Amino acid sequence: MDDWKQILAESITKPEDLAKHLGVDPKEVEEVVGAYPMRITPTVLATIKEKGDAIWKQVVPEAIEMDDIDAQDDPLEEDTDSPVPHLVHRYPDRVLLMVTNQCPIYCRFCTRKRLVGKPGFLKKGELDQAFAYLREHTEVRDVILSGGDPLLLPDNLIERILKTLRAIPHLELIRFGTRVPGTLPQRITPEFCEIVKKYHPIYMNLHFNHPDELTPEVKEACGRLADAGIPLGAQTVLLKGVNDDPEIMKRLMHQLLLARVKPYYLYQADLTKGTNHFRTSVETGMKIIQALQGHTSGMAVPHFVIDAPGGGGKIPILPNEYLLQLDENGAVLKNYENKTYHYPQPEQDRPRELPMVGVSSPGGLCGNGALDEF
Ligand SMILES: *Cc1c(COP(=O)(O)O)cnc(C)c1O
Repeated sequence: MDDWKQILAESITKPEDLAKHLGVDPKEVEEVVGAYPMRITPTVLATIKEKGDAIWKQVVPEAIEMDDIDAQDDPLEEDTDSPVPHLVHRYPDRVLLMVTNQCPIYCRFCTRKRLVGKPGFLKKGELDQAFAYLREHTEVRDVILSGGDPLLLPDNLIERILKTLRAIPHLELIRFGTRVPGTLPQRITPEFCEIVKKYHPIYMNLHFNHPDELTPEVKEACGRLADAGIPLGAQTVLLKGVNDDPEIMKRLMHQLLLARVKPYYLYQADLTKGTNHFRTSVETGMKIIQALQGHTSGMAVPHFVIDAPGGGGKIPILPNEYLLQLDENGAVLKNYENKTYHYPQPEQDRPRELPMVGVSSPGGLCGNGALDEF
Protein backbone atom coordinates (compact mmCIF):
# COMPACT_ATOMS: atom_id res chain seq x y z
CA MET A 1 0.00 0.00 0.00
CA ASP A 2 1.26 3.46 -0.88
CA ASP A 3 1.92 5.70 2.10
CA TRP A 4 -0.60 8.26 0.94
CA LYS A 5 -3.41 5.73 1.03
CA GLN A 6 -2.51 4.94 4.62
CA ILE A 7 -2.45 8.65 5.49
CA LEU A 8 -5.80 9.21 3.76
CA ALA A 9 -7.21 6.30 5.77
CA GLU A 10 -6.17 8.10 8.97
CA SER A 11 -8.45 11.04 8.12
CA ILE A 12 -11.37 12.07 10.31
CA THR A 13 -14.61 10.78 8.82
CA LYS A 14 -16.76 9.94 11.84
CA PRO A 15 -18.46 12.28 14.30
CA GLU A 16 -16.80 10.42 17.23
CA ASP A 17 -13.33 11.13 15.77
CA LEU A 18 -14.26 14.76 15.31
CA ALA A 19 -15.22 14.86 18.97
CA LYS A 20 -11.91 13.31 19.95
CA HIS A 21 -9.71 15.63 17.90
CA LEU A 22 -11.62 18.90 17.77
CA GLY A 23 -13.99 18.71 20.73
CA VAL A 24 -17.15 18.99 18.63
CA ASP A 25 -20.28 17.41 20.11
CA PRO A 26 -20.89 14.38 17.84
CA LYS A 27 -24.67 14.79 18.16
CA GLU A 28 -24.42 18.24 16.59
CA VAL A 29 -22.96 16.91 13.35
CA GLU A 30 -24.41 13.39 12.98
CA GLU A 31 -27.31 14.44 10.77
CA VAL A 32 -25.11 16.65 8.56
CA VAL A 33 -22.49 13.95 8.10
CA GLY A 34 -25.27 11.52 7.17
CA ALA A 35 -26.40 13.86 4.39
CA TYR A 36 -23.01 15.23 3.31
CA PRO A 37 -19.87 13.22 4.09
CA MET A 38 -16.93 14.57 6.05
CA ARG A 39 -13.23 13.90 5.59
CA ILE A 40 -10.37 15.82 7.17
CA THR A 41 -6.86 14.63 6.30
CA PRO A 42 -4.05 14.74 8.89
CA THR A 43 -2.41 17.62 6.98
CA VAL A 44 -5.58 19.71 7.15
CA LEU A 45 -6.26 18.78 10.77
CA ALA A 46 -2.77 19.96 11.69
CA THR A 47 -3.44 23.34 10.05
CA ILE A 48 -6.49 24.09 12.18
CA LYS A 49 -5.35 26.49 14.91
CA GLU A 50 -8.62 27.18 16.69
CA LYS A 51 -12.35 26.56 16.63
CA GLY A 52 -14.04 28.38 13.78
CA ASP A 53 -10.88 29.51 11.97
CA ALA A 54 -10.57 29.66 8.18
CA ILE A 55 -9.50 26.01 7.82
CA TRP A 56 -12.07 24.72 10.33
CA LYS A 57 -14.93 26.45 8.51
CA GLN A 58 -14.03 24.74 5.24
CA VAL A 59 -14.06 21.18 6.58
CA VAL A 60 -15.97 20.86 9.87
CA PRO A 61 -19.68 20.15 9.30
CA GLU A 62 -22.20 22.58 10.76
CA ALA A 63 -25.88 22.13 11.48
CA ILE A 64 -26.66 25.23 9.36
CA GLU A 65 -25.95 23.15 6.22
CA MET A 66 -29.28 21.41 6.80
CA ASP A 67 -31.28 24.67 7.01
CA ASP A 68 -30.84 25.45 3.36
CA ILE A 69 -34.01 23.67 2.26
CA ASP A 70 -35.09 25.86 -0.66
CA ALA A 71 -31.81 25.97 -2.56
CA GLN A 72 -31.11 23.72 -5.55
CA ASP A 73 -28.82 20.69 -5.58
CA ASP A 74 -27.43 21.53 -9.00
CA PRO A 75 -27.80 25.28 -9.64
CA LEU A 76 -25.25 25.22 -12.48
CA GLU A 77 -27.42 22.60 -14.22
CA GLU A 78 -24.44 20.39 -14.88
CA ASP A 79 -26.74 17.38 -15.13
CA THR A 80 -28.65 19.11 -17.96
CA ASP A 81 -25.40 19.69 -19.89
CA SER A 82 -24.31 16.08 -19.52
CA PRO A 83 -24.57 14.05 -22.78
CA VAL A 84 -23.11 10.90 -21.18
CA PRO A 85 -22.64 10.12 -17.48
CA HIS A 86 -19.93 12.12 -15.69
CA LEU A 87 -19.17 14.38 -18.65
CA VAL A 88 -20.28 18.03 -18.76
CA HIS A 89 -20.12 19.60 -22.22
CA ARG A 90 -21.07 23.24 -21.72
CA TYR A 91 -18.55 25.16 -23.80
CA PRO A 92 -17.91 24.55 -27.50
CA ASP A 93 -14.35 23.23 -27.32
CA ARG A 94 -13.84 21.82 -23.84
CA VAL A 95 -15.42 19.37 -21.45
CA LEU A 96 -15.34 18.47 -17.81
CA LEU A 97 -14.92 14.79 -17.00
CA MET A 98 -15.68 13.64 -13.47
CA VAL A 99 -13.55 10.55 -13.03
CA THR A 100 -14.34 9.94 -9.35
CA ASN A 101 -16.51 11.44 -6.63
CA GLN A 102 -14.00 10.86 -3.84
CA CYS A 103 -12.06 13.78 -2.37
CA PRO A 104 -9.26 14.08 0.16
CA ILE A 105 -11.47 16.46 2.15
CA TYR A 106 -15.16 17.23 1.75
CA CYS A 107 -15.39 21.01 1.50
CA ARG A 108 -18.54 22.20 3.25
CA PHE A 109 -19.14 24.71 0.42
CA CYS A 110 -18.77 22.14 -2.39
CA THR A 111 -20.63 22.88 -5.62
CA ARG A 112 -21.07 19.14 -6.20
CA LYS A 113 -22.32 18.43 -2.70
CA ARG A 114 -25.07 16.36 -4.33
CA LEU A 115 -22.51 13.88 -5.69
CA VAL A 116 -19.34 13.70 -3.69
CA GLY A 117 -18.27 11.00 -1.27
CA LYS A 118 -21.22 8.70 -1.82
CA PRO A 119 -20.72 5.07 -2.89
CA GLY A 120 -21.43 3.72 -6.37
CA PHE A 121 -20.45 6.72 -8.51
CA LEU A 122 -18.56 5.28 -11.45
CA LYS A 123 -20.27 2.24 -12.90
CA LYS A 124 -18.58 -0.26 -15.14
CA GLY A 125 -18.29 0.95 -18.72
CA GLU A 126 -19.13 4.58 -17.96
CA LEU A 127 -15.60 5.87 -18.48
CA ASP A 128 -15.46 4.03 -21.80
CA GLN A 129 -18.71 5.74 -22.77
CA ALA A 130 -17.13 9.11 -22.00
CA PHE A 131 -14.04 8.22 -24.04
CA ALA A 132 -16.25 7.18 -26.95
CA TYR A 133 -18.05 10.55 -26.77
CA LEU A 134 -14.71 12.36 -26.85
CA ARG A 135 -13.50 10.34 -29.85
CA GLU A 136 -16.65 11.25 -31.73
CA HIS A 137 -16.65 14.94 -30.81
CA THR A 138 -13.72 16.32 -32.77
CA GLU A 139 -14.58 19.88 -31.69
CA VAL A 140 -13.34 19.10 -28.17
CA ARG A 141 -9.70 20.15 -27.78
CA ASP A 142 -9.46 20.49 -24.00
CA VAL A 143 -10.56 18.02 -21.34
CA ILE A 144 -10.62 18.78 -17.64
CA LEU A 145 -10.33 15.82 -15.30
CA SER A 146 -12.36 16.67 -12.25
CA GLY A 147 -14.64 14.99 -9.78
CA GLY A 148 -14.41 14.53 -6.89
CA ASP A 149 -10.68 14.71 -7.05
CA PRO A 150 -8.96 12.86 -9.90
CA LEU A 151 -5.71 12.59 -7.94
CA LEU A 152 -7.36 10.17 -5.52
CA LEU A 153 -7.43 7.56 -8.26
CA PRO A 154 -4.57 5.07 -8.13
CA ASP A 155 -1.60 5.68 -10.43
CA ASN A 156 -2.47 2.81 -12.78
CA LEU A 157 -5.97 4.17 -13.42
CA ILE A 158 -4.69 7.72 -13.93
CA GLU A 159 -2.18 6.39 -16.42
CA ARG A 160 -4.89 4.42 -18.23
CA ILE A 161 -7.02 7.56 -18.50
CA LEU A 162 -4.14 9.73 -19.74
CA LYS A 163 -3.05 7.12 -22.26
CA THR A 164 -6.58 6.74 -23.61
CA LEU A 165 -7.09 10.51 -23.88
CA ARG A 166 -3.70 11.05 -25.56
CA ALA A 167 -4.66 8.50 -28.21
CA ILE A 168 -7.46 10.88 -29.30
CA PRO A 169 -5.72 13.18 -31.79
CA HIS A 170 -7.99 16.24 -31.47
CA LEU A 171 -7.54 16.45 -27.68
CA GLU A 172 -4.82 19.05 -27.30
CA LEU A 173 -4.92 19.86 -23.60
CA ILE A 174 -5.52 17.71 -20.59
CA ARG A 175 -6.10 19.49 -17.30
CA PHE A 176 -6.55 18.26 -13.76
CA GLY A 177 -8.62 20.08 -11.17
CA THR A 178 -7.48 18.98 -7.71
CA ARG A 179 -7.30 19.86 -4.04
CA VAL A 180 -4.84 17.03 -3.30
CA PRO A 181 -1.55 19.02 -3.23
CA GLY A 182 -2.95 21.26 -0.48
CA THR A 183 -4.63 18.54 1.58
CA LEU A 184 -2.79 15.26 0.94
CA PRO A 185 0.65 16.37 -0.29
CA GLN A 186 2.09 12.87 0.30
CA ARG A 187 0.10 11.72 -2.74
CA ILE A 188 2.35 13.78 -5.05
CA THR A 189 4.94 11.05 -5.29
CA PRO A 190 7.91 11.00 -7.68
CA GLU A 191 6.24 7.99 -9.38
CA PHE A 192 3.04 9.94 -9.96
CA CYS A 193 5.02 12.87 -11.40
CA GLU A 194 6.89 10.50 -13.74
CA ILE A 195 3.59 9.16 -15.08
CA VAL A 196 2.04 12.59 -15.70
CA LYS A 197 5.20 13.89 -17.41
CA LYS A 198 4.81 11.38 -20.22
CA TYR A 199 1.54 12.91 -21.41
CA HIS A 200 2.30 16.62 -21.74
CA PRO A 201 0.86 19.17 -22.28
CA ILE A 202 -0.79 18.59 -18.92
CA TYR A 203 -2.02 21.50 -16.82
CA MET A 204 -3.22 21.47 -13.23
CA ASN A 205 -5.48 23.85 -11.37
CA LEU A 206 -5.07 23.49 -7.63
CA HIS A 207 -7.73 24.50 -5.15
CA PHE A 208 -6.56 26.86 -2.36
CA ASN A 209 -8.62 29.29 -0.30
CA HIS A 210 -6.44 30.55 2.53
CA PRO A 211 -2.73 31.41 2.96
CA ASP A 212 -2.41 29.01 5.95
CA GLU A 213 -2.99 26.12 3.51
CA LEU A 214 0.43 26.75 1.97
CA THR A 215 2.56 24.91 4.55
CA PRO A 216 6.18 24.00 3.72
CA GLU A 217 5.08 20.41 3.00
CA VAL A 218 2.36 21.64 0.62
CA LYS A 219 4.75 24.00 -1.15
CA GLU A 220 7.15 21.08 -1.68
CA ALA A 221 4.37 19.02 -3.26
CA CYS A 222 3.59 21.92 -5.62
CA GLY A 223 7.30 22.14 -6.40
CA ARG A 224 7.40 18.47 -7.41
CA LEU A 225 4.54 19.06 -9.85
CA ALA A 226 6.17 22.20 -11.22
CA ASP A 227 9.47 20.31 -11.63
CA ALA A 228 7.55 17.74 -13.68
CA GLY A 229 6.81 20.57 -16.11
CA ILE A 230 3.17 20.97 -15.19
CA PRO A 231 1.99 24.59 -15.32
CA LEU A 232 0.10 25.15 -12.07
CA GLY A 233 -2.90 27.45 -11.65
CA ALA A 234 -5.00 28.08 -8.57
CA GLN A 235 -8.73 28.22 -8.17
CA THR A 236 -10.09 29.96 -5.09
CA VAL A 237 -13.65 30.17 -3.83
CA LEU A 238 -14.65 33.41 -2.14
CA LEU A 239 -16.05 32.34 1.23
CA LYS A 240 -17.61 34.36 4.00
CA GLY A 241 -15.53 34.21 7.17
CA VAL A 242 -12.70 32.39 5.39
CA ASN A 243 -11.16 34.71 2.83
CA ASP A 244 -13.62 37.58 2.17
CA ASP A 245 -10.96 40.13 2.98
CA PRO A 246 -8.49 41.90 0.67
CA GLU A 247 -5.52 41.46 3.03
CA ILE A 248 -6.08 37.70 3.43
CA MET A 249 -6.52 37.35 -0.32
CA LYS A 250 -3.35 39.26 -1.03
CA ARG A 251 -1.42 36.98 1.35
CA LEU A 252 -2.97 33.92 -0.32
CA MET A 253 -2.01 35.11 -3.81
CA HIS A 254 1.56 35.83 -2.68
CA GLN A 255 1.85 32.43 -1.00
CA LEU A 256 0.59 30.76 -4.19
CA LEU A 257 3.21 32.50 -6.32
CA LEU A 258 5.89 31.43 -3.82
CA ALA A 259 4.61 27.87 -4.28
CA ARG A 260 5.00 28.32 -8.09
CA VAL A 261 1.24 28.41 -8.57
CA LYS A 262 -0.33 31.18 -10.70
CA PRO A 263 -3.73 32.41 -9.43
CA TYR A 264 -6.29 31.60 -12.17
CA TYR A 265 -9.89 31.95 -10.97
CA LEU A 266 -11.54 33.54 -7.97
CA TYR A 267 -15.07 32.15 -7.83
CA GLN A 268 -18.14 33.75 -6.41
CA ALA A 269 -19.73 31.01 -4.25
CA ASP A 270 -22.45 29.03 -6.04
CA LEU A 271 -26.07 28.75 -4.89
CA THR A 272 -25.76 25.05 -4.09
CA LYS A 273 -28.04 23.69 -1.40
CA GLY A 274 -26.29 23.39 1.94
CA THR A 275 -23.65 26.04 1.16
CA ASN A 276 -25.49 29.36 1.13
CA HIS A 277 -24.10 30.47 4.50
CA PHE A 278 -20.74 30.92 2.73
CA ARG A 279 -22.01 33.42 0.14
CA THR A 280 -20.69 36.98 -0.01
CA SER A 281 -22.03 40.01 -1.90
CA VAL A 282 -20.78 40.42 -5.48
CA GLU A 283 -19.15 43.71 -4.43
CA THR A 284 -16.88 41.84 -1.99
CA GLY A 285 -15.10 40.11 -4.88
CA MET A 286 -14.92 43.30 -6.93
CA LYS A 287 -13.28 45.11 -4.00
CA ILE A 288 -10.76 42.28 -3.59
CA ILE A 289 -9.75 42.47 -7.25
CA GLN A 290 -9.47 46.25 -6.95
CA ALA A 291 -7.24 45.85 -3.89
CA LEU A 292 -4.90 43.57 -5.87
CA GLN A 293 -4.82 45.11 -9.34
CA GLY A 294 -1.95 47.57 -9.56
CA HIS A 295 -1.19 47.28 -5.86
CA THR A 296 0.76 44.03 -6.30
CA SER A 297 2.25 41.87 -9.07
CA GLY A 298 -0.14 41.37 -11.96
CA MET A 299 0.77 37.69 -11.66
CA ALA A 300 -1.10 37.69 -8.34
CA VAL A 301 -4.44 38.81 -9.77
CA PRO A 302 -6.92 36.02 -10.63
CA HIS A 303 -10.01 36.40 -12.81
CA PHE A 304 -13.05 36.98 -10.62
CA VAL A 305 -15.95 34.99 -12.11
CA ILE A 306 -19.49 34.03 -11.35
CA ASP A 307 -20.53 30.63 -12.64
CA ALA A 308 -23.95 31.69 -13.85
CA PRO A 309 -26.89 29.89 -12.24
CA GLY A 310 -28.79 28.00 -14.93
CA GLY A 311 -25.68 26.81 -16.75
CA GLY A 312 -24.40 30.00 -18.40
CA GLY A 313 -20.79 29.21 -17.58
CA LYS A 314 -18.20 31.43 -15.95
CA ILE A 315 -18.74 35.14 -16.45
CA PRO A 316 -15.92 37.55 -15.56
CA ILE A 317 -16.66 40.45 -13.22
CA LEU A 318 -14.33 43.43 -13.27
CA PRO A 319 -14.46 46.42 -10.98
CA ASN A 320 -16.38 49.21 -12.80
CA GLU A 321 -13.63 51.65 -11.97
CA TYR A 322 -11.11 51.64 -14.76
CA LEU A 323 -12.86 52.75 -17.95
CA LEU A 324 -14.57 56.06 -17.28
CA GLN A 325 -15.44 56.87 -20.85
CA LEU A 326 -14.92 55.41 -24.31
CA ASP A 327 -15.80 57.18 -27.54
CA GLU A 328 -14.35 57.82 -31.01
CA ASN A 329 -11.74 60.16 -29.53
CA GLY A 330 -10.37 57.79 -26.99
CA ALA A 331 -10.66 56.23 -23.59
CA VAL A 332 -10.66 57.97 -20.25
CA LEU A 333 -9.00 55.66 -17.79
CA LYS A 334 -8.58 55.62 -14.04
CA ASN A 335 -5.58 53.84 -12.52
CA TYR A 336 -5.20 52.03 -9.20
CA GLU A 337 -4.29 55.32 -7.47
CA ASN A 338 -7.49 56.99 -8.75
CA LYS A 339 -5.58 59.14 -11.23
CA THR A 340 -7.18 59.64 -14.64
CA TYR A 341 -5.48 59.28 -18.02
CA HIS A 342 -6.52 59.69 -21.63
CA TYR A 343 -5.70 57.16 -24.32
CA PRO A 344 -6.46 58.50 -27.84
CA GLN A 345 -7.95 56.24 -30.51
CA PRO A 346 -5.84 55.69 -33.64
CA GLU A 347 -6.48 58.51 -36.11
CA GLN A 348 -7.35 56.35 -39.16
CA ASP A 349 -10.18 54.52 -37.45
CA ARG A 350 -12.34 57.59 -36.80
CA PRO A 351 -15.25 57.84 -37.12
CA ARG A 352 -16.50 54.32 -36.64
CA GLU A 353 -18.94 52.14 -34.85
CA LEU A 354 -18.07 51.62 -31.23
CA PRO A 355 -18.82 48.41 -29.48
CA MET A 356 -21.37 48.69 -26.72
CA VAL A 357 -19.56 48.93 -23.44
CA GLY A 358 -21.33 48.93 -20.14
CA VAL A 359 -19.42 51.92 -18.88
CA SER A 360 -20.75 53.37 -15.72
CA SER A 361 -19.17 55.12 -12.82
CA PRO A 362 -20.38 56.74 -9.64
CA GLY A 363 -19.18 60.13 -10.94
CA GLY A 364 -21.64 59.92 -13.83
CA LEU A 365 -19.01 60.06 -16.58
CA CYS A 366 -21.02 57.72 -18.74
CA GLY A 367 -21.00 57.46 -22.51
CA ASN A 368 -20.72 60.70 -24.46
CA GLY A 369 -20.83 64.05 -22.82
CA ALA A 370 -18.96 64.92 -19.71
CA LEU A 371 -15.42 64.78 -21.01
CA ASP A 372 -15.85 65.55 -24.73
CA GLU A 373 -13.04 68.12 -24.66
CA PHE A 374 -10.39 65.37 -24.19
C1 LIG B 1 -14.92 25.72 -15.58
C2 LIG B 1 -15.42 24.80 -16.60
C3 LIG B 1 -14.68 24.55 -17.76
C4 LIG B 1 -13.33 25.20 -18.02
O1 LIG B 1 -13.43 26.57 -18.14
P1 LIG B 1 -12.15 27.45 -18.45
O2 LIG B 1 -12.67 28.86 -18.39
O3 LIG B 1 -11.66 27.05 -19.81
O4 LIG B 1 -11.14 27.16 -17.39
C5 LIG B 1 -15.19 23.70 -18.69
N1 LIG B 1 -16.39 23.10 -18.51
C6 LIG B 1 -17.14 23.33 -17.42
C7 LIG B 1 -18.47 22.69 -17.29
C8 LIG B 1 -16.68 24.20 -16.42
O5 LIG B 1 -17.41 24.41 -15.33
